[in-house]
Amino acid sequence: MHEVSLVHALFDQADRALGAHPPAAVRLVRVRIGELAGVERELFETAFDGCRAERGYAAAALDVVPEAAAWRCRACGVELAPGGPLRCAGCGDAGDVALVAGDALFLDRLELEVRDV
Ligand SMILES: [Zn+2]
Repeated sequence: MHEVSLVHALFDQADRALGAHPPAAVRLVRVRIGELAGVERELFETAFDGCRAERGYAAAALDVVPEAAAWRCRACGVELAPGGPLRCAGCGDAGDVALVAGDALFLDRLELEVRDV
């Protein structure tokens, strides 16, 4: 189940992001998962629940934001309409399009517990 290794990679990334504030507890971890990233959301959520305590994120909730795939014409740079045909509306070129979003998993946001001073 590669979602488990993805969750560990996510916590590695969060650890690095938290380097300056290690004592703060993380309340929320928000990730964007592209529809073409090859990640099963339910498996990812299950893996997160299974790993968060051992990684020191016991208090963290997971918020998954789905990201639609987006394509751009290589010839003229126009972004194609989401969900539409893979043909450029700008120059009519078909086939020579590049995927510009929706194929990856991103750590979007960490929310930390705010302590009263
Ligand atoms: Zn074009």
